[in-house]
Amino acid sequence: MLKIAIMGAMPEEIAPILEKFRPYKTTKYADNEYYEATYNGVEIVVAYSKIGKVFSTLTATTMIQHFGCDKLLFSGVAGGINPNLKIGDLIVATKLSQHDLDITAFGHPMGFVPGGSIFVEANKELIEISKEVAKELGKTVQEGIIATGDQFVHDEKVKDNIVKYFNADALEMEGASVAVVCNALNVPFFILRAISDTADTDASFSFDKFMESSAIISAEFIMKMVQHIVDTK
Ligand code: SAH
Repeated sequence: MLKIAIMGAMPEEIAPILEKFRPYKTTKYADNEYYEATYNGVEIVVAYSKIGKVFSTLTATTMIQHFGCDKLLFSGVAGGINPNLKIGDLIVATKLSQHDLDITAFGHPMGFVPGGSIFVEANKELIEISKEVAKELGKTVQEGIIATGDQFVHDEKVKDNIVKYFNADALEMEGASVAVVCNALNVPFFILRAISDTADTDASFSFDKFMESSAIISAEFIMKMVQHIVDTK
């Protein structure tokens, strides 16, 4: 049976998803909780990783290696960089990079370490499904580059550097690490984010105000994608 992982970083990002899968089974594993359910003949595993690259790496790996998921969908919020992205807008990652991975002292480009690559590309079929879903809903969903790092960005200068090195459209703290895991383990993945702030000096206020509503926007879209995957499997 197809087994889909649905992941967020914070409880608010998965709560709207989890309520659709009642009753679910809760399993404690590796200092986290995983919620398992079946939905129209598909197995679902939902979890929030906690914030940042390390926790999201652990959760993505666990969902694949321990729970045996064969697709991974991430739902959450992000800081917008591209001025076309307003609060509540959705962005689908085409490729992701770790903006805080820096061994430039040795002549390497930002975001690169030997054996890795600056960008990891998201699965094209899942992006295609997101386009179909967007069309069905009459919704605009932008595609773009997401930069990930272990910091909440609230500074124009940091933002400008992320644009300079990665030409990123949005930034957050988990996407690229999930991408690296899924890429290494050959699991198709999809990263969706709704904008909660614009990573400038007001970012923490904006985040507090819009995180929950943006998390719901992203979660609802992910649920439509799950429905689409279930219907066409
Ligand atoms: N308010 C939270 C911390 C949120 S950290 C607390 O006190 O516990 C920000 C989270 O939202 C991360 O999971 C990240 O992926 C995403 N995010 C949204 N806006 C961001 C920004 N401007 N910079 C980095 N991550 C951002």
